[in-house]
Amino acid sequence: MTYTKMIAMKNIACSCEPRAQFERHEPADGLLAQRCPKCRAVVLALQDYLPWIERHDSERPAVNPSHLPGRETLSKARLCPSCQRVMARYRTGDADSFWLDFCPPCGVVWLDAGEWEQLEQSGLASYLDIILTERWQKDIQSRRVASFRDDLLRERFGAEFPEILRVRDWLGRQARRRDILAFLAESLSEKAAQGEPFVITRAGKPLVKEAQ
Ligand SMILES: [Zn+2]
Ligand SMILES: [Zn+2]
Repeated sequence: MTYTKMIAMKNIACSCEPRAQFERHEPADGLLAQRCPKCRAVVLALQDYLPWIERHDSERPAVNPSHLPGRETLSKARLCPSCQRVMARYRTGDADSFWLDFCPPCGVVWLDAGEWEQLEQSGLASYLDIILTERWQKDIQSRRVASFRDDLLRERFGAEFPEILRVRDWLGRQARRRDILAFLAESLSEKAAQGEPFVITRAGKPLVKEAQ
């Protein structure tokens, strides 16, 4: 087995300390990587990771990225230890998960101390190649947008929100939902025409002040 295919990283020091040369490290059985002896950051090359994952593909555990434990890492931008350019950031999961730093041209992943262990605990250590795809990132993004929208609606409708969702789901199951909606809109506007004030509200307060 070759030491590592990361030829471009030979003799490159970690950014934590100019003299801290990366050392050979095996985060998992048969997986070659490099680690900084000072800050314990782990640097993985996709060329080393992909053959390893191919051997373990059948063992990938099922994961649910919306329920991953984790923490938000808000460290400053990372420089690729190989080419010294700013690394791109990839979310590992939804709200509480952390970011992976990755340099696409070099195919190098940067993991802060403890992050590999965290990936292992959440079953994601065998998903790095998938996490780094546009599809995974887009899915996370759309779930975040949906949850943000739900929060706004919850704030807008307050205690009524669960009932609104129940009615919406019920309507969604009706074959004649367009008819039902048209009927409701019509009868509610008739009610409004009969003198009952029809006020658009936000969080229980009228959006527009009624004329005195
Ligand atoms: Zn370091
Ligand atoms: Zn690079």
